[in-house]
Amino acid sequence: MTYRVHCGFIRDVARTGVLVTFEDVTHLETAEQMRRDFVANVSHELRTPLTALLGFIETLQGPAKNDAAARDRFLGIMANEAGRMNRLVRDLLSLSHVEAQERIRPGEVVVLNDLITSVLRNLTPLAEKSGVALKTDMPDTPVKLPADSDQLRQVLTNLAENAIKYGGQNGTVTISLSEMDRDPALRAPAARISVSDTGPGIDPVHLPRLTERFYRVDSHRSREMGGTGLGLAIVKHIVNRHRGRLKIESELGHGSRFTVILPL
Ligand code: ADP
Repeated sequence: MTYRVHCGFIRDVARTGVLVTFEDVTHLETAEQMRRDFVANVSHELRTPLTALLGFIETLQGPAKNDAAARDRFLGIMANEAGRMNRLVRDLLSLSHVEAQERIRPGEVVVLNDLITSVLRNLTPLAEKSGVALKTDMPDTPVKLPADSDQLRQVLTNLAENAIKYGGQNGTVTISLSEMDRDPALRAPAARISVSDTGPGIDPVHLPRLTERFYRVDSHRSREMGGTGLGLAIVKHIVNRHRGRLKIESELGHGSRFTVILPL
């Protein structure tokens, strides 16, 4: 705990004395430390691809100047690194946008069945490339919810994209939707959307930290897959903005399930 001490003199007709107050500023220190960590992480994440780009530019200007094969190979790597920086900046902007927003856009009603269908349609090429089957389990009746449709689209896209990326070849990713009369934690009627995969799963020790910015179970694999380490942090923020909750269940060797529960 950290305290800030304030001292002052009191002098009026009735008394003269010294007033000492102690202010608990632990939360300010924690916030400041988090800000410093965030800046350090962003700098590191940007510097890695930038250093690679500068190195390849130098090589192309010098030793590989007249080597057509090397030039093509290096340009491919440079495009990858630039793409990585681009995704990072995109996710940073998304995160700062949802963090800055106090409330969701009022009055918008989202039909979750349609949103899920549309998200999966957009992810079909990635799933096909990764050899992953996409499945849905949804009621015939529409499940409607007041929400920001762009943000919910991002939540479902991030979760389904992760399930495809980390779920492994020949796996299955299932998105299920259901309505609950009452979610015990939210104490309200709620919609439940689960994204499950049949991948290798996540060691339970990592689960509590998974939604922290830049937290990755396997950094090398995440980078290889084009990850920024911000996807689940964005998901958590958006779900919180909608007064919902995110539940993560996983067991090594038995896949993972990410469930978003939103009040209806
Ligand atoms: P990234 O951009 O690295 O994918 P995320 O915030 O989306 O960042 O996810 C954080 C980490 O959680 C990932 O790096 C990965 O290690 C792990 N992860 C997320 N989803 C899954 C999943 N479905 N199966 C296994 N690991 C996952």
